Order: sequence, then structure tokens, then C-alpha cells
Amino acid sequence: AKYVYDFTEGNRNLKDLLGGKGANLAEMTNLGLPVPPGFTITTEACRHYLAEGALPEGLDREVEEHLRALEESMGKRLGQADDPLLVSVRSGAKFSMPGMMETVLNIGLNDESVHGLAKQAGGNDRFAWDSYRRLIQMFGKTVLGIDGDLFEDALDALKDGRQDTDLDAGELQRLVESYKGIVRDQTGDDFPADAREQMRMAVMAVFDSWNAPRAILYRRQERIPADLGTAVNICSMVFGNCGGDSGTGVAFTRDPGSGRQGIYGDYLQNAQGEDVVAGIRNTIPLQELERLDKRSYDELLSIMETLENHYRDLCDIEFTIERGKLWMLQTRVGKRTAGAAFRIATQLVDQGLITMDEAVTRVTGDQLARLMFPRFDAGADKRRIAKGMNASPGAAVGKAVFSSERAAELAARGEDVILVRRETNPDDLSGMIAARGILTSRGGKTSHAAVVARGMGKTCVCGAEELDVDTAGRTFSAPGGVVVNEGDVISIDGTSGEIFLGEVPVVASAVVEYFEGAEPEDDLVKAVDRIMRHADGARRLGVRANADNPEDAARAVRFGAEGIGLCRTEHMFLGDRRQLVEDLVLAAGAEDRQAALDALEPLQKSDFVGIFQAMGDRPVTIRLIDPPLHEFLPDIVGLSVKVATGEATDKDRALLAAVKRLHEQNPMLGLRGVRLGLVIPGLFAMQVRAIAQAAKEVPGARPEIMIPLIAAVQELECVREEAAAILAEAGVDALIGTMVETPRAALTAGQVAEAAEFFSFGTNDLTQMAWGFSRDDVEASFFSRYLELGIFGVSPFETLDREGVGRLVAIATEEGRATRPDLKIGICGEHGGDPDSVHFCHDTGLDYVSCSPFRIPVARLEAGRAAL
Ligand code: PEP
Ligand code: MG
Repeated sequence: AKYVYDFTEGNRNLKDLLGGKGANLAEMTNLGLPVPPGFTITTEACRHYLAEGALPEGLDREVEEHLRALEESMGKRLGQADDPLLVSVRSGAKFSMPGMMETVLNIGLNDESVHGLAKQAGGNDRFAWDSYRRLIQMFGKTVLGIDGDLFEDALDALKDGRQDTDLDAGELQRLVESYKGIVRDQTGDDFPADAREQMRMAVMAVFDSWNAPRAILYRRQERIPADLGTAVNICSMVFGNCGGDSGTGVAFTRDPGSGRQGIYGDYLQNAQGEDVVAGIRNTIPLQELERLDKRSYDELLSIMETLENHYRDLCDIEFTIERGKLWMLQTRVGKRTAGAAFRIATQLVDQGLITMDEAVTRVTGDQLARLMFPRFDAGADKRRIAKGMNASPGAAVGKAVFSSERAAELAARGEDVILVRRETNPDDLSGMIAARGILTSRGGKTSHAAVVARGMGKTCVCGAEELDVDTAGRTFSAPGGVVVNEGDVISIDGTSGEIFLGEVPVVASAVVEYFEGAEPEDDLVKAVDRIMRHADGARRLGVRANADNPEDAARAVRFGAEGIGLCRTEHMFLGDRRQLVEDLVLAAGAEDRQAALDALEPLQKSDFVGIFQAMGDRPVTIRLIDPPLHEFLPDIVGLSVKVATGEATDKDRALLAAVKRLHEQNPMLGLRGVRLGLVIPGLFAMQVRAIAQAAKEVPGARPEIMIPLIAAVQELECVREEAAAILAEAGVDALIGTMVETPRAALTAGQVAEAAEFFSFGTNDLTQMAWGFSRDDVEASFFSRYLELGIFGVSPFETLDREGVGRLVAIATEEGRATRPDLKIGICGEHGGDPDSVHFCHDTGLDYVSCSPFRIPVARLEAGRAAL
């Protein structure tokens, strides 16, 4: 295998192999942009190293060859005493994992080459010693595993309140000595002086950082596969810390918060890259670079335009200016908020850069779902205490907490918290995940908190400099004498950047109002409207709703449902009516049973009338009752206690006997669905009659009758015959079909289709039975361990397991259609509203997906994306 690629050899399509950073550095190199020369070690080498615990054979030789070539082109050798080549060693996986893995800068410095570097920089001793101390600090922390605070504390002691730029060469030289002392104390060895040894160790440290706890946590959060590995980029150093004519910055080609075009970025004079992200000193807005260095500024703007036109998308970049010369260190298609994603997609269409088809593929159902979150009520009384930067939109309310541990602790108890920090660093990840929102007093829109929050779709206000945050004291103060202690409730608005004391009420988002029928007014809603229309035009899958009352049905229609795919009739018997079902199930004889059925029938009929009215001439799939008995019978423990304490009536005693008789160890695998219909005479017939009578009352109604939980065609035949007779007698036309939610039904679909005019996959039960996972229990008991072990990346109850459950779906679809070519096929498990599962349904040739009303826009969009 070839493990090393020069920047001139790669391109942006090689992200699997070169990681995102490496692939894009290569792309920029080939575009002729000023990228410092270098090369990339592949993710394949990383995977080998992580699996075998050793670098793959031949890697050292390949790296040496590329390093030689690099040295030749630069005219100096790595670590050369009188004129050293220095390199950075930077991680870069296929998917960006901001700040989660390691990077080491200034490799190649030692006690000799530091003088060479100073000489080459025109006698700039300060710069050389600053670079050297940075190397020992980063190398010590990331490669040698020394506690970073030891270095920070030594630096702070030396600064004694001054800025790091105030330190002079002599002081930095002394700092290097104390850093070397720290390394010796902590590891028992001297800091490695050999430049090639430094580089080799740094490469392995970057590989190892793939499995750092925070990286693992981030991947799980972002659903990034655990087995990809990271590439390593070795790049000749350029220096932003040479003095006032140097610096480093980050920028976006347009606003990642709103999508608006303009100049968005932060710049830090006389600094190296890490300083910007870490928020060590406050950055200045990128616009001010124009005043400092107009030539570099103009060049940067023109490069940004080149990149946008080339990638045809928002890009974010990292750059460094070394004594007036601009260098590009990174670019990628940038993360953005959900709102920006929709705006940018349509803007790029209007600029002629992409087509509407592409625009639809540029946004996701998850982003749309985020736009449907509620926002703060503009009319509510609120007490605003400060304003920061609107880093990641949304409305979050919760108790203020000041540490990640505390955030996780309270969240585990079910409390909503807002994580308040001066700035966040990658170690705060667990707290950021646990919190409803994140508030920081320092750092710009490119700070760690902002980048990570945007990626997670979590509300974030950052850089609220009016706040004085005391994390140790678990308190912050705001102007006007406001003090907020841990546990006090605050509300933060990630769209406006405002911070409020107390709980602010939330209202529906503008996007939800649009789906409810409001005219699109603001530009975000207009963008959503355009994209939804195009997705609807492109999709082949129908979208239906799971709804069992007229209100949900009506909302589903407003949200674009083309029918009801699952009306769960047992849901009509919860609440007051539960008693009637209980009476039915426990009925002692035919007479009691008939009485219970007679009581239920008119209620059922009026339920169906309401739903048919809401749905007009759209099809309505009504599933006959499927009550897992444990959800409907009285609690056995409560009854037993009553009997034992002598409080029970005769009726209670009879009830207890009946409940005991019907008690099941595995109710989900017990007397439910079609089984109940076959065991309780008259139950299904009553429901079918109610459906037929309701349909006669509502002109245009299109009922479809669905039999649940069959495993064999014979079950279906028994029910079908009776149902068909009732329909015929009433003169009502209705399809009769079945759910496919047991593995046996799926595997015998060819037979089942003889008796079914449609199939609907109940993937909740199908998943439960295919995996043998109790859908009520396992997510709470052992799924977190399974996720940790990587047995699956996401719960199979959330995203359809293509390999197992998906195969059952595919087999049943194919064999069902072989029997009955016009068999209509849908899915109505929770997966019907899950983006990845919608794509699966499209690929497998289903006719429609059915999901809860609020997921319908997501399903429409994803069905459109799947078709493009
Ligand atoms: C299913 O099993 O996927 C389904 C839709 O039915 P229920 O969730 O009601 O069991
Ligand atoms: Mg089911």
C-alpha cells in the first residue's frame, strides 16, 4: 500500500484516505493557492497502527522519502542547526472533529536549531524562543501526556499579569529551561532533541488521539463511525508569531450563523494558530486586517472568493501571515446553522452556482427539524441581563451550572441546565452534550464552544463579555448588580445572543407556522418554502401520518401528509374508555362481552367520522386493535395488595383472578394484535362495522383496514373473510391489508400477499423480534454499553438496521410483489420519520412512509433528497 501522499498528489475526493484536512490541502495546492508544502500520512496507516499497535511496514521509509523531497524543495533539513526546516504535525479525519484530536507545531527545534531559526529570522530571538517553548509545551502535553496545567502555570507565573506578547527573548529562554525541567520531572527523560524522533513520536501521538475519550464521545454524538482513523498532515511551518507584521486567523466565506454574505472571521496578530481557537487573547474582527496589511487582506478576500466558487459552498479557512506573506493552512466546506444551510442553498442557486436539485441535497431533515424547535415568545415579559454573540440558534431555558460534571449530573436527574463557562475547551464536551444550551463570556463565533454547539445543533451564546464568570465560585455577575448562582434559572437566545434572567416562555417557530399555513415572509421561511416545493416535486415516496385523532390528522394534512398510514385504534381506548376495554377482555361470558362491544361501537364510529372528515379523500389506514395486555389491564400488584389487606370487593377479587389468568411474562409476545381478534369473538367485527358505518357518513372517505401482528397467512384469512363480509353488507369499499411486523410474516410474504391488498411494515415490532430486543426495556438497560462497544452506531429502534431488519423488509417487498404486483407497501414504525430510514425505504421501492405529524416535513424533504 501507499501510505504517504504529497500535497500535490491528493485531491478533495480522497477524504476517506487523506482525511478532510489533507484532501483539501491537496485541493488548494492544486488550485495554485499559497499552501506551505507538505505531505499526508493516510488513515489506512492509522487504522493499521491502531489495530496492530505498530506502524505499518514501509511507512518509515515512505515518510523519509517524502521528508527528503520536502527538505530538498525547501533547501533546508528538518532541525538543521543553522537554518532549520520546521514542520507541523496535524490530525485530520474524514469528518471534522474540531479540537478533539492532537496537533503539534514547531517540530524540529532543539537547543541548537533555535539559534539557527533566530538567525534566519533576522536576529529575531524572541520569535525563536517563543516557538521553542510552544513546541515543548504542545509536545509535552500531547505526545508525552504531561498535565498541560504545569506548563500553563509556569507561563502564567512568568507573565505575572502581562500579555504573552510582552515576554522578551530572555524570559522566553528561561521559560524553555523550566519547561524542559517539567519534562524531565514528569517523564524521567530529557525532551527529545532529535528532530526526526520528535516527528515520529508526534505522528504516533496523533494516531493515538483518535481514541482519546473526548474524541470517542464526540464521534458517538455526531454518529461518526469509530473505525475510520485519522490521517496525519506534515506541513512545513510558516510563522504567525514573527512580530506585528505576522499573525493568524480563521474566516468564513459567509456568515455561518445566518448565511449572509460578507466578511466573517477573527484575526490575532503575532500569534500561532492554536492561540485563536483557544481564546488565549481576544481576537480582532477580520475587517481590521485591511488596515494592518492591505495587501494580504485583499489577497485573502480574493482567495476566499476562489474557494467559494470552486467548492460552490460556504468554506471556512485557517490562514497565517508571516511577515506580510499570506499562507493558507486549511479549508473545508464549513459547518453552519440549520437556518444558514437553507439560506445558503437558495443563495447559491440565485448566484447560479448550484441547481435547485443540488440545493435540496445541501440541507438535511435534521436541520429542518431544528428549525421547527420553539423560540422565545417576543411578547413575553423578560428581564434581559446581557447580550453576547448569537453563536448557535435556538431558545434554551435551564439552571445555570458552571462545570461539565455538574451539567451531566443534573441532566442525568432530568433537569434542564445551561452550561456557563468563560470559554469551553474540548474537555467540556460531556457537559455541552448534557446541557440545553451553552453560554460563554469569552471567545468569538469561531471559538470552540460556538463551533461544537453549531455542529450539535445546540443553542449557544458566546463571548458575552459583560458577564463576569467565576467558575470556581459557581456564579456570574451581569451589569446592574445582577448575580446568578448555580441553580438559578436563565434563558438564552442563540438567535439574538440575548441572555435573560428566569424562565422565558417559548412559542412555535416561524417555520412551524409556515407549515401550519402562514405565508412565507422572512427570507429563511422563503428558502424553506422553495426547497420543500422542489423536494416534493422530486420525491417518489408518498408521505403519510401516524395519527389517531382528528386534531393530529388535521395537523398532518397541513404539514403535507397524503393520508394516514397508521391509525392505532387502541389509542382510542386510553383514558376514560380504558375501562371498556378492560370489561371486554375480562368479560366472563358472551353476554358481558356483547355489552362491552355495544358500548364501544358508537364511540369507535364517531372517532372514525372525525378522522375521515379531517382527511377528506385521502386514504386512512386503520389498524384494528393491538393492545399489549399489560398496557390495558389493571395493575396486578395493586389488586393483590387490596385483596391481601382486606380492602377488596367481590368484584376486585374476581378481577384479580382474571388478571392472574391473563397475566403474561412477555406481553409484547403474547395475546395481542390478530391473536386477540381471533380469541375475542366480535371484537374485530365491531371495529370493521364502525369503520363501515363511519365511511358511509363521510362522503369521499377512503378507509383501509389493517390487521396487526400476523405471522401466518392463515391468521389473516380468518379475519379477512369476516371483515370482507361486513364491508360488502354495508356496501363500503375498503382495502384489506396487513402489518408486516413479525419475521415470519416477512419471510412468508409471498403467501401473505395472497390475502393482503397492502403491507405496512411495523418496524418497531419487526426490530424487536428480529434482534430479540424488548422495545420497552433495552434502550434503558444495555444500549449505552452496546453503543460504547460499537456494536451499532445508533439504536436500531431509531434508525432502521439495514443489514438485518432491512433485509426482512426487502425480502417481503420483493416476494409480496411477486404474488401481487400492485401490492401497496408502506412503513409505519418510528423509522418512517428517520432520515436514514427514509432513504432506505426509497431505495427498497416502498410506496410511502408514515410518521408522526411533526416529522412529516422531515420525511418529505428526505424523500426528495433520496430521489435526487
Ligand atoms: C410497529 O410495530 O412498528 C408499529 C407501528 O406498531 P406498534 O408500534 O403500535 O406496535
Ligand atoms: Mg407493532
